[in-house]
Amino acid sequence: MPHIVVVGSLNMDLVVRTPHLPRPGETILGHEFMMAPGGKGANQTVAAAKLGATVHMVGRVGGDDFGRALRGNLRAAGADDAYVFTEDSAATGIAIIEVEDSSQNTIVVAPGANAHVTRADVDAARSTITSAQAVIAQLEIPLDTVLYAMRLAHGANVLTALNPAPAQPLPVELLPLIDLLVPNETEASLLTGIEVKDETRAEQAAQKLHECGARVVVITLGERGAIVLDQQGARRIPPFRVKAIDTTAAGDAFVGALAAAYAAGRDLDTALCEASAAGALAATKLGAQPSLPTRAELDEFLKRATR
Ligand code: ADP
Repeated sequence: MPHIVVVGSLNMDLVVRTPHLPRPGETILGHEFMMAPGGKGANQTVAAAKLGATVHMVGRVGGDDFGRALRGNLRAAGADDAYVFTEDSAATGIAIIEVEDSSQNTIVVAPGANAHVTRADVDAARSTITSAQAVIAQLEIPLDTVLYAMRLAHGANVLTALNPAPAQPLPVELLPLIDLLVPNETEASLLTGIEVKDETRAEQAAQKLHECGARVVVITLGERGAIVLDQQGARRIPPFRVKAIDTTAAGDAFVGALAAAYAAGRDLDTALCEASAAGALAATKLGAQPSLPTRAELDEFLKRATR
């Protein structure tokens, strides 16, 4: 079993299904309401833990009910929350998510305690990070903390995976520290200035990100699958065909599964196949963490699935 550290965000997701997304000024009646643990960091932690990896999370929650619930949820998924600290000056992060019947969504995130994850928090987990097989980060905590964690991991020869989400410009020194860069279309477009609207553009964007220093680049394309670029060149990763209900956390399922499989020593294409299956499975269920597959669910799906 690989040992993974995720440095990132924890949010409580407040999810409403709705017949259509409201326009500015419009009030509509939605369907049911659901509260579920989320945040890209916690999602990727749980994604990898449910697939059997040993995972420590580094992050912050507020000293409130949501924070306690999120920590308990990490433990329930089998992850370690010893480095999830309590921030007394801020509320636990939340995300307000609207999911249209068509499965399109809009999301507003209030970062709260996530904005207080510092270099000192990374230092508190230093020996755990430098002895891990992989460290994963996203961009829902301060960029300075991400850069610091990736520099520490890279310096210790630990595999680094960055999911540059939500999209934002990166300091030039970050990408050369990254072994596995996994943006979606929006993030790849923002990072490269290339509008990633098809596989050809995705390959061009991946090439550009590789030239900026990322060793392996995987651009996820939702229901169209993904493309990967490594030293053997670019190739398409076909999607698994599923009936999508809610694509929230499909990307997190993909990143968590990819890092877990690759850190466990599987070759890149096998790891990408598992990641695609995890992403597809996550799209078939409502919510973030409740939709993440277990090892048994993933193995069963891989036996039967068609691409
Ligand atoms: P994000 O949630 O970060 O935008 P994507 O939507 O690109 O991420 O999804 C990540 C991966 O999950 C895709 O590359 C694909 O493998 C899988 N996936 C997502 N949506 C679907 C879908 N509707 N059908 C099959 N696979 C999907």
